[in-house]
Amino acid sequence: MSFEPEVEQALALLRQSLASGRLAHAYLIVGSPRGAAGVLAERVVALLYCTAPGERPCGQCAKCRQIAAHTHPDVLWVEPQKKSRGILMAQIEAVQEHINLTSFEGGWKAVVFRNADRINPQAANRLLKTLEEPPDKCLFLLVTDQPAALLPTVVSRCQRVVLAAEATVSGVALRAAVIDAMTGTEGRSLVAAVERSRKVLGVLKQVREEIEETVDADEHTETQASEELKAAKEIREARIESLYKETLAELFRWLLLWQRDVLLRVVGANGPAAPAFPDQVKAIQQQAVALTCRRALANINTIEDMRWQVAQNLSVPMVMERGFIRLTATGTPEDRRRTPDA
Ligand SMILES: [Zn+2]
Repeated sequence: MSFEPEVEQALALLRQSLASGRLAHAYLIVGSPRGAAGVLAERVVALLYCTAPGERPCGQCAKCRQIAAHTHPDVLWVEPQKKSRGILMAQIEAVQEHINLTSFEGGWKAVVFRNADRINPQAANRLLKTLEEPPDKCLFLLVTDQPAALLPTVVSRCQRVVLAAEATVSGVALRAAVIDAMTGTEGRSLVAAVERSRKVLGVLKQVREEIEETVDADEHTETQASEELKAAKEIREARIESLYKETLAELFRWLLLWQRDVLLRVVGANGPAAPAFPDQVKAIQQQAVALTCRRALANINTIEDMRWQVAQNLSVPMVMERGFIRLTATGTPEDRRRTPDA
C-alpha cells in the first residue's frame, strides 16, 4: 500500500516551517514506525542535512545516504532494547550526551525515537526535562503508533503530526467498513441494523488478526527462561490490546466523520470543514434528506455513546449491535418532515 502522498504532504509542511525558521523542537509523529511514520521521520531528518541544490531531501546525496543508513554522526536513533523491549534510562542519558556535543555539520542535532511509546516512565521523566529546555538547533522526533501510551506531559511538549488513517492497512479497511455499513445495506429494519454491525465487526476481527501478526513479527522472544517468557507473553498481550484500542478509536473517528458529513448536509453548511467522505456525496445526501437536524445530532450522540461504552469495557459486539439499531431506526416518516427543530 502506498503512503507516499501523505508522507509528502506532511513533509511539505515541515519543509516550510524549517524554511521560515518555525520548526518546532519536538514532533510526535503518529503512524506506523515501520511504515509511513518511519519514512517521514527519516525524510524530516534528511531535510536538515541534505546538500542538494533543488528540492530537499534528495535521497541521493552523501548526507541523505548516511541518514538512510543511520550512520550520520549528528543523528541518534533510539529504539527499544531487544531484551527489555523498552527504551531505558541509559538510552535517555545517551540522548542528553548526544545533544550536548557540538554538531559535526550543519549545526543541527537530531534524535529519532522509534516506538516512542516504549520509553519507560522513569526514562520519559528524564526526557521531559530535555524537552522542556531543549538546546538550540535540536530536533526530536518521537515516532509511535500508540500515542495514548506516552506520558501526557511528554506529548504536550511535542507538536503532533498525524499521518492520515489511510496510511495504515487498518485505516483503509475501517474507512471502507464504515462506507459499507452506511451504504451497503438497504432498509431500516432490525435485520438491516444487525447486518451493518456484522460488517463492522468482521473488519474489526480482521484488523485484530493483522495486529497479532505484526506484534508477533516484532517481538521474537530470545529467551528460554520461563519467567522471562511469561513476561514476554504479558507484554505481547498488552501491546495487542493497546493497538486494538487504537483501532476502535479509529473506527469511531470514521463513524463520527460520516455522521458529521450527514449533519453538514442536513444544515446545508458549506463551511470550512471539507467532507471526510468526498467520494460518498450521493449516499450522504440521501441520508441527509431523511433526517432532521435534531436526528442528525442524535446520531452523533449515538456514536459518542458507543465510544464511551467500549471505553467502559462493554462487549464490542453488543455495543455495535445496539448502536447500529439506534442509528438505523432514525429517519422514520415523522423525521422526514424536516421541521426546523434544532
Ligand atoms: Zn540529499
